[in-house]
Amino acid sequence: MNKPLPNDALTDNLRKVTSYLQRFKAATVPHIIAGERVAGADTFEDFDPTDNSVICKVASGTAAEIDRAARAAAAAFPAWAGLPGDKRQALLHKVADRIEARAEEIALVESFDSGQPIRYMAKAALRGAENFRFYADKAPSASDGMSLPTDTHLNYTLRQPIGPVGVITPWNTPFMLSTWKIAPALAAGCTIVHKPAEWSPLSAVILSEIMTEVFEEAGLPKGVVNLVHGFGESAGKALTEHPAIKAIAFVGESVTGSHIMAQGAPTLKRVHFELGGKNPVIVFDDADRERALDAVLFMIYSLNGQRCTSSSRALVQRSIYDGFVADLKARVAKIRVGHPLDPATEIGPLIHPRHVEKVLSYAQHAKADGAEVAVGGVRAMDGKGNYVCPTLFTGAATTMRIAQEEIFGPVLTVIPFDDEADALKIANDVRYGLAAYIWTGNIGRAHRVAQSVEAGMVWVNSENVRHLPTPFGGVKASGIGRDGGEYAFEIYMEQKNIAIGLDKHRPPKIGV
Ligand code: NAD
Repeated sequence: MNKPLPNDALTDNLRKVTSYLQRFKAATVPHIIAGERVAGADTFEDFDPTDNSVICKVASGTAAEIDRAARAAAAAFPAWAGLPGDKRQALLHKVADRIEARAEEIALVESFDSGQPIRYMAKAALRGAENFRFYADKAPSASDGMSLPTDTHLNYTLRQPIGPVGVITPWNTPFMLSTWKIAPALAAGCTIVHKPAEWSPLSAVILSEIMTEVFEEAGLPKGVVNLVHGFGESAGKALTEHPAIKAIAFVGESVTGSHIMAQGAPTLKRVHFELGGKNPVIVFDDADRERALDAVLFMIYSLNGQRCTSSSRALVQRSIYDGFVADLKARVAKIRVGHPLDPATEIGPLIHPRHVEKVLSYAQHAKADGAEVAVGGVRAMDGKGNYVCPTLFTGAATTMRIAQEEIFGPVLTVIPFDDEADALKIANDVRYGLAAYIWTGNIGRAHRVAQSVEAGMVWVNSENVRHLPTPFGGVKASGIGRDGGEYAFEIYMEQKNIAIGLDKHRPPKIGV
């Protein structure tokens, strides 16, 4: 049989997603608190980004639901934290099994809900399962510490779970990002209250259902994981303020991070932030041109440019600037904008009309500041839904708004530079410091620039290829703390030192 053509695949995907969405449309999508489906008093609407029609109504959490969820997480904490690591390992593998079993559903629902092309979402759903497997295998040793015997004392350090954790996630690739926080927190022994983004809440429901199911079957107390939907200023704020919540793992905008820090201050909340970026990709004249071009395009235009590590600033050496920009223009003009469920689509609709307005406003800023709108800068698909043309700004200078602010859409700003020192100066001249990409044929230069560029992660002659044991996170306004590997445990666990005096130990005598 022939492989279906893309449009047959779109029809097929639409048919499948319609059936998956039926239950969300049938009744208000509830919170899931202590295993119970909770309707709540208020609701908000979730929109289809292809035409902004209403997909479904979702329960809108308030301080009351957050309180109920935080108490449930606190009540379940001793049992979950006390479960031997190998038992947690087995349960987290079970969660991964069920994510894999429902991967198609997760990918289709998330792609439809968020507008991210299905060609990327299928992989993102499976990556969610991988995150659970990776941390499942860390659970048995999560609490191991160092022991330092001396003549007089045996010192050892335990790592213990911090307690119930609030997880607040954004609307871009929400499923994968949620697993990235929740899997290590559970492996560490923490319980969870999750508040997903209000613009793409549906895949969080599937994740919550899977985890709730697995933990209930294991006979654990209800409330190991809890899901409360709602807006940042109500449900999100209440979560950051709740005294039973010991830490907040947050992914979102840098400004929101500041709000969360202030909100959490009265209860001395520990925070772990993955925030925004304005990531440079530096292309030197000795780079492999073709590979560099592919990587620059992929890292800004995949996932609709709504990716924290997107290479949104291309710094191109002046000696190759004109040719490189000509190649970029030709390729950007050919990027396929279309329905997110069409496997041929390279850019789907942006998440929300407000976000479209923000993204398109940068075409005005570009012109006003003297840059060129070389491609795009306008709506796509005849103005329908939230579709935006892939956009290329050229001839930019580092002082311009298009070179300083996170646009978070399919928009690339190209800036010329003269030499290595100039490239570094421009690369570091922003408030952010999440990722940086360097393209060069000179290993010495790669190493020098990688050391001096202000970023939490640097890729040399590569795009964002991520290995789970490595640290992920940013410096400056891009974050606090690291995800990945053992690094994630730093937020979810406390170190406790225990010193045991041995026979030889004699406390000093006073008052004799
Ligand atoms: P956002 O900050 O607007 O919202 C993120 C989450 O925070 C949502 O769930 C929202 O409801 C909640 N929120 C908003 N105000 C709050 C408050 N006062 N208290 C508590 N919670 C609150 O971000 P967004 O627009 O959803 O996501 C896009 C941003 O996320 C971009 O800046 C992007 O770079 C960033 N991001 C970073 C990473 C990373 O790993 N560094 C990954 C993905 C996205």
